Amino acid sequence: MGGTTAARQEAIRHTQNELLYRGVKYSAAGSLLAAAVAVYVFAPLTTPSVAVWIWFVCIYTVYLTRVVDCRLFTRSTSRHEQVDYWASRFNTGALASAVIWASSMWLIYPQADLAHQVLLVLTLGGVAGGALASLPYDSKLSNIFQLLILSSVLLRLIVDGSQFALELALFSCFVFGFLLSCGKEVGKNYLDLLRLRQDSQETNLTLIRTTEQMAQLGYWQWDLESESVEMSSHLAQMLGFDQRQVNIQDYFSCVHADDRLKVENAWTHVIKTGEDSHVEFRAVDSQSDKLRNIRQIMKLISDSEGHNSLLGALQDITDIKTAEQKIYSMAYYDELTGLANRAQFHERIDAEISRATRLNKRFAIIYIDLDDFKGVNDSYGHQCGDNYLKHFSNYLKVNIKESGICARLGGDEFCILITDIEDHSYAEQAALQCLNYCQQVVQLGNHRIHPKLSIGVALFPDHGSVGDELIKCADLAMYAIKQSGKRSYAIYNTHMASENRERVRLEADLRQALVNNEFELWYQPKIDIQTNSMMGVEALIRWRHPEKGLIPPDLFISTAERVAMIKEIGEWVFIHACSQLQQWNNQGLKLSMAVNISGDHFAADDFSEFILTTIEQHQLRHADLEIEITESLSRNPEEHSATCHQLRSHGVRIAIDDFGTGYSSLSVLSDLEVDTLKVDKSFIDSIVTDPAAQLMVQTIIDLSLGLGYAVVAEGVETADQLEILRQRHCPYVQGYLFSRPVQAAHIPAFALADWSSQQAA
Ligand code: C2E
Ligand code: MG
Ligand code: MG
Repeated sequence: MGGTTAARQEAIRHTQNELLYRGVKYSAAGSLLAAAVAVYVFAPLTTPSVAVWIWFVCIYTVYLTRVVDCRLFTRSTSRHEQVDYWASRFNTGALASAVIWASSMWLIYPQADLAHQVLLVLTLGGVAGGALASLPYDSKLSNIFQLLILSSVLLRLIVDGSQFALELALFSCFVFGFLLSCGKEVGKNYLDLLRLRQDSQETNLTLIRTTEQMAQLGYWQWDLESESVEMSSHLAQMLGFDQRQVNIQDYFSCVHADDRLKVENAWTHVIKTGEDSHVEFRAVDSQSDKLRNIRQIMKLISDSEGHNSLLGALQDITDIKTAEQKIYSMAYYDELTGLANRAQFHERIDAEISRATRLNKRFAIIYIDLDDFKGVNDSYGHQCGDNYLKHFSNYLKVNIKESGICARLGGDEFCILITDIEDHSYAEQAALQCLNYCQQVVQLGNHRIHPKLSIGVALFPDHGSVGDELIKCADLAMYAIKQSGKRSYAIYNTHMASENRERVRLEADLRQALVNNEFELWYQPKIDIQTNSMMGVEALIRWRHPEKGLIPPDLFISTAERVAMIKEIGEWVFIHACSQLQQWNNQGLKLSMAVNISGDHFAADDFSEFILTTIEQHQLRHADLEIEITESLSRNPEEHSATCHQLRSHGVRIAIDDFGTGYSSLSVLSDLEVDTLKVDKSFIDSIVTDPAAQLMVQTIIDLSLGLGYAVVAEGVETADQLEILRQRHCPYVQGYLFSRPVQAAHIPAFALADWSSQQAA
């Protein structure tokens, strides 16, 4: 870690320069004072006296030059880089000082005055000693300085040649020898100190840089007396500057124009009050124009000399902001559609309730459900289902955005908040606007969907005063219109709430029905119209409610699916159907049994195993059992064909119930893993009057027979319908014309009956 050895040495030498130049003013002051005293003392003793003045001018010139040099050094912005240059300038100055002091032995030496000779030698010894203090960071320089003076002293004293001068020379050797050795030692210690300081600075800087990079931190310092801001290298890099020292205006230009006032106010506040200040702003990278989010803390600091600087520590919080925005978006927006989610919608309603209450306004909640969304999902897969949801969301965004807030509450349920309405007609207009979506055919990949919506409307304050209550009312209104089978909208009324209570009660009763053994199986014959015999029955469930009497399956199967009871009920039906078939087999009746299975039950993991085990437990032939599933299930091959395949491989038959009402096209008939198609009653209803229905039925029969499927026409009620089916070679029929579903006791007689007489009725 840290810089290279060469870089460190360069840094140490720069510090040496700094310290040496810092000492110049003190050594100049001391030297010039000493020179003035020397002139005062030695001028009367020197001949010619002009030599003193020449020496005096020289020493002043040298020291004043050095002081100027020192000023130039401190002002130089490139002194970090020009270490050698400034070092040699300093050395030249220092050596010039040494030479000028050394020349004093020649220019102001008092030839005849022994006492003043000692005084002069002592003064020079003092100057050489002073070099110890002013040049301690460069022992070489200080030694040369001292040697120059010493050699001049010695030479002059030897030239003098007197006994006293030679003794003084000897004495000087001791003093200067001592100073030289001290200088060496002091220099070494100081250099070690500098190295230590540099090393620890480097280590700290490396630590700071690493921390800066990891935490995306940076700092700057603005000396308030200057225009220049010095910043950490990581901050310079973050803001796109090539250098660490920039003009304050350049630094300020990095602040996004819209945030400048805020940042300026924060600066002013810190400078005026001395209090710390926090500010967040956007910074623009001066090179790439990239925007960053910055959090900055500023402090006013003063150095030991009373200079004020503004210190700023800042952190790049772009990632934090992005994450915050993502979290916000996840918490408040629906990921799939980009609409508001349930949480946001509730908050918006709460805010709207406060506003509407204060201003005495009215608003509406519109609750939308995509009818048969499950069918689309089951038939075309979840990807297509997702695209359908997105398509509808986009319609809402384009058509409703102006007048309200749209949200997806989950699944296929959407809500809209329409504000500031006078009366319900405004909400009705919005509901009609939503219903307009159904005017189009939605093309999603290869699939075409005819959208259908059920919409409920609730008004504030008319139908509720809190958000949950209003959504519940709109939901109930939506449910009511869905139940009515009309693809329209309904405005909430109290009657809907009582119907809902009824529904809740039904759910509770349904949970008890299995325990209390309240279900019954009724059977409807399936007739072979060529042999006029009953070839089998379809088991149809009924619920004998203790208070309400016999309830048909249409009124509780969907509830059982919703409250996740359908698997239990389905298993109950299949076990009882098998047990009944076993009894009839034991009576010698050869019949097949068709059982309706709901999609959720069919999709259960253990479904095939349950069916096969139950059949075996009742010692039945697999081929006598037929599972009726709905068309949408059969159209999701990935999920269900494995189950169909497993059951069929054991001989269990699979029938598609209500064929023609789902999403299959006739072209897929050949791929189905099934044995029987049951043509939906709606086609049979119109087969006499509607040529299109006739053609449809004929096509289904022809194709099915051609592909080897059995065909059953459901809901045959009239002899005319039967006649047409017979002409179209439909082999099997089922309907009130022959028999309504009946209790098990009637079946043995039916099995032996000739059904041709029925056809004439
Ligand atoms: P589905 O499987 O299509 O059964 C035929 C329905 O049409 C039966 O109604 C039957 O009574 C009725 N039907 C038969 N012929 C005629 C006719 O000529 N005219 C008229 N108007 N109706 C006729 P049901 O028993 O009320 O059953 C209704 C639906 O409930 C069934 O339709 C089936 O989808 C479902 N269902 C019945 N039992 C079960 C069951 O055990 N499990 C499941 N999951 N669903 C069942
Ligand atoms: Mg059926
Ligand atoms: Mg049916």
